[in-house]
Amino acid sequence: MPRSADARRGADPALDARALSDFGRRLRAWYRRSARDLPWRRTRDAYRILVSELMLQQTQVSRVVPKYHEFLRTFPSLGHVARATPERVMEAWSGLGYYARARNLHKLAAHVTSDGRRPRAKLPAEPHELRALPGIGAYTAGAVASFAYGKRAALVDTNVARVLSRVFAPHLSPKRPRDLTVIWRIAEQGLPRTGSATWTHNQALMELGALVCTARVARCGECPVRAVCASAQVPKGARGQA
Ligand code: SF4
Repeated sequence: MPRSADARRGADPALDARALSDFGRRLRAWYRRSARDLPWRRTRDAYRILVSELMLQQTQVSRVVPKYHEFLRTFPSLGHVARATPERVMEAWSGLGYYARARNLHKLAAHVTSDGRRPRAKLPAEPHELRALPGIGAYTAGAVASFAYGKRAALVDTNVARVLSRVFAPHLSPKRPRDLTVIWRIAEQGLPRTGSATWTHNQALMELGALVCTARVARCGECPVRAVCASAQVPKGARGQA
C-alpha cells in the first residue's frame, strides 16, 4: 500500500500505478455484477443527468426516483425550466427540500438557453465550462461531463472521498480542504484510459460508497476491493480472496 513519508506528512501519497489499476479493475468488475438499476444510469442526456445529480445531493435515492420522473414529465428539457417561473420550478421540487438546488437549476437553465430564447441549447461538455454555471461545483461538473458526455473526468463527493481515502490514504480526512485536494488527485490518477470505462469507474466508486463502504459501516468482508485496501478489516486468511 502506498504509505510514503510524504503521505504521512499529508502531501500526495506516492501512489503505485499498479495498485490504482488493480483497484479500478476489481471495482468495475463488481459494478458490472452488482449495480442497482437506477433511471439516470439509463440515459446519456446531460439535462436529465444534471437533474438527478442535483436531486441526489442531500436526498436519498428512494425519495429521488419518483420525484425525478415527475419533475421530468413537467420539465422535459432545460428550455422548459427556463420558460417557467422560479416559483413553478420550486413547486415541482417540493418534497425534496434544499430549495436552493431548484433556484440554481432555474438560473442555470435561463443562462444556458438565454432566458428561453434558445430552448434547444445544451449544457457544455467540459468540466471547466460546467463549473462556470450557477450552482455547479466540481463534483457535479465531473458527473455531467463523465456520465453524459463520456469525458475522462474525475468526481469526488462524500462517498467517493471516503472510499478513496480508506483504500489509498487512511491518514487523510475528507473534511480537511488540503486533504480533499489530495483525494481529488487520487481520483484523477485512478481514472481508466477511456471515457466509457470512466463512466463505469465513476458510477462504481459512488455505488461502493453507497452500498458497501458506507459512512456508518465498512462491509469489508463483502467488499470487492478489500485485497487492495489499506483500511480493510478482514478475518485472517480472507485477504487476497477478493
Ligand atoms: S475493504 Fe472495507 S474499508 Fe476498504 S473499501 Fe472495502 S469496505 Fe471500505
